[in-house]
Amino acid sequence: MSLTVAIDGPAAAGKGTIARAVAAHFGFAHLDTGLLYRAVGKRTLEGKDALEAAETLQPEHYADAEALRSPDVAQAASVVAAMPEIRTALVNFQRAFARRQGGAVLDGRDIGTVICPDAEVKLFVTASDAIRAERRHKELVGKGHQVTLEEVAHDLAERDRRDAARATAPMTAAEDALLLDTSALDIEAAVARAVEEVGKKVGM
Ligand code: C5P
Repeated sequence: MSLTVAIDGPAAAGKGTIARAVAAHFGFAHLDTGLLYRAVGKRTLEGKDALEAAETLQPEHYADAEALRSPDVAQAASVVAAMPEIRTALVNFQRAFARRQGGAVLDGRDIGTVICPDAEVKLFVTASDAIRAERRHKELVGKGHQVTLEEVAHDLAERDRRDAARATAPMTAAEDALLLDTSALDIEAAVARAVEEVGKKVGM
């Protein structure tokens, strides 16, 4: 059986946590597609050409997710993600993952619109700008990054603007996506809502 759950939304809305939890609940595989762009972005920070970095991307480049979660890598990711040829280089891998046997959850910005327009379930996860900045700030400080709330809010706003304004595969909700605003939900409640929706659609 192949079954795809597409989860999109802006940074720090909770889509990664929801995607992991949905995958664990239903026994599906999970791909955080942001890690692919982060890995390419990180390689450009190390001096590599962006297209070469994307075309030669290997699992070991995105295996260490924590090393890719810094603010400078996030910005570099959104810069390379606006280049059409970089997105093209990463399409086939994502589509093959989405159609693997046993079910797959992919989270990103363009999964329900471009990568998997035929996904059986689509969620678009959002939260207010202030809540997202608070969450990401807490997460980064918890990992030892020295950043202020204002810097995090500024970084997120810049990334959102770039991700939503780019010409190729901009961040946007698919017409048939269920909107899930997590502003007033804690993690457990947000995950429960998502699991309920996916369960309804896939009959599990
Ligand atoms: O999801 P995450 O914040 O890790 O993604 C990092 C960056 O990668 C995003 O800001 C966006 O520019 C890019 N991205 C994308 N398409 C995806 C996933 C991520 O353009 N499907």
